[in-house]
Amino acid sequence: MVKERSPMSSSAGSAPLLRFEPSGYTPAQVRSYYGDSGSGQIAAASPYLADVRSVLDDAQVWLGEYQVPERAAIVLDVDDTALSTYTYGAATDFAGWHDVHPFAKYVMSCQMQAVAGVPEFAHWAAERGFALFYLTSRPDQIHQITLQNLLEQGYAEPAQLFCKPGTQPFPEYLPALVEGTSSHSTVAFKTATRAHLQAQGYDVIANIGDQQSDLEGAYARRTFKLPNRMYLLP
Ligand SMILES: [Mg+2]
Repeated sequence: MVKERSPMSSSAGSAPLLRFEPSGYTPAQVRSYYGDSGSGQIAAASPYLADVRSVLDDAQVWLGEYQVPERAAIVLDVDDTALSTYTYGAATDFAGWHDVHPFAKYVMSCQMQAVAGVPEFAHWAAERGFALFYLTSRPDQIHQITLQNLLEQGYAEPAQLFCKPGTQPFPEYLPALVEGTSSHSTVAFKTATRAHLQAQGYDVIANIGDQQSDLEGAYARRTFKLPNRMYLLP
């Protein structure tokens, strides 16, 4: 029998590309933080969105102080930075991240909503002259779907959207990205991609993501961490 391969699986079809770990919060604590009293949606008045707003405000202060140099850039993660997985999380009681097929189906449905305030932030930054790059561990096979979801949620066409290559040959700037090894980690992939941007003359003024693995490594002047109490992605 030929096993169906999900685009969220690795090219070997075995280990998923994304290795979710529990956040340490109970489902009730997560719902409370996101202001969800049963709707399965994030509430506008939630502690979560207040924390998101606070981080975006900090980023705007930081970026606002810049006389924007040529090729100044901002790097944004996608899941739970630009687009929210909350509705999927709530529907699976925050335990569905390992169910590769349902999660892939959800991602490919293109129905993910923007994290409130982030499209406006992105437009503000673009108007100031920052080039916007999206950098996600989503596999390359769903590059177009990801872009479509971003655009439908009010984001402008980015300078580029980088997804994680699943099959060799990898791009030249990802020489160490060997599947099944630690060099295939999110940190290795994202750091190498930011190094690639720098090699192209870009100066990443701000790198914004919801996971430490989005932000570790160099090649950004400052990092901004958005909250995520649903899962960890080391
Ligand atoms: Mg993320």
